[in-house]
Amino acid sequence: MLIDRFGRAIEYLRLSVTDRCDLRCAYCIPEGFKGFEEPAHWLTFAEIERLLSVFARMGLKRVRLTGGEPLLRRHVDELARRIAQIPGIEDLSLSTNATQLAGMAERLKAAGVTRLNVSLDSLDPDTVKRINGRPVLDDILSGLAAARAAGFAPIKLNMVVMRDNAHEVDAMVEFCLAHGYVLRLIELMPMGDTARRMGYVDLQPIKRALQTRFGLVDTVMPGGGPARYLGTPDGRFTVGFITPLSQHFCATCNRVRLTVDGQLHLCLGQDARVDFRSLLREGASDQALVEAMHQALALKPERHEFVERPEKLIRFMNMTGG
Ligand code: SAM
Repeated sequence: MLIDRFGRAIEYLRLSVTDRCDLRCAYCIPEGFKGFEEPAHWLTFAEIERLLSVFARMGLKRVRLTGGEPLLRRHVDELARRIAQIPGIEDLSLSTNATQLAGMAERLKAAGVTRLNVSLDSLDPDTVKRINGRPVLDDILSGLAAARAAGFAPIKLNMVVMRDNAHEVDAMVEFCLAHGYVLRLIELMPMGDTARRMGYVDLQPIKRALQTRFGLVDTVMPGGGPARYLGTPDGRFTVGFITPLSQHFCATCNRVRLTVDGQLHLCLGQDARVDFRSLLREGASDQALVEAMHQALALKPERHEFVERPEKLIRFMNMTGG
């Protein structure tokens, strides 16, 4: 039922549970950013549960908790438990910077989170401090260890590749090989002026170099996202490429994004959105929510314009939910 006007079945929702974050990644929330929403605007757990139950009856199958940093939302494990129990939701994943993961990994697993993505742009403490705005490498590594101990597998590491860290891709590959993590290399998207200035790096040459060096072949990984995966024939190492600029994947887009204040965004790179918070707070019936969702899908653009119009998007990544 969740079909847009280009025939794409939408079965995947990224749910931003906060726009706050404890890091200041220069390409995501630059230092000095003060535009956080007030909690009164945030959807409550009950509102989220109701909306997702309606969407699940329409065909939504996957939910990813994101942000901002989702582990900063109080009692996020309780929210995870409620979402995991919604009939029709088959897969509940979470993206995190892992700074708070050490103390939460077990609770998230018990709550029904099935898969974890951890952001890690560098293994060099100084580069982490420079890019991510805080000296948190040790906290992230402790969080990763706790996630493994809690039984999360596979764990995917997201590395946004930019001018500053492109030379560290090989080191990250070695680290993932040694620890059994799946590496995902991501092209920097022009979300806000700072990200635009940081310089996007085309992943295609990096992909070809890794292919040759490790004899990589096409492979698939569980997950509803846009990564294209390559792996060693023995399955020991897998690397995914998320290439919104050099090879966009809009034709197979299966995602929408719900912000912490209840706006449903139809595309990360366009402005089309529908305000579900107002509908929920005005007492909309389930049928009205279904109709609003159909109207929202009619607004889903065919594609982003990161390459043609990089100046277009002034929304930071933490606002929409990555
Ligand atoms: N805080 C969580 C985390 O670190 O995974 C979830 C939210 S974060 C916005 C989700 C992902 O988006 C992270 O992997 C982050 O590196 C990535 N990201 C943020 N801004 C980006 C940009 N301009 N281009 C590409 N990826 C970006």
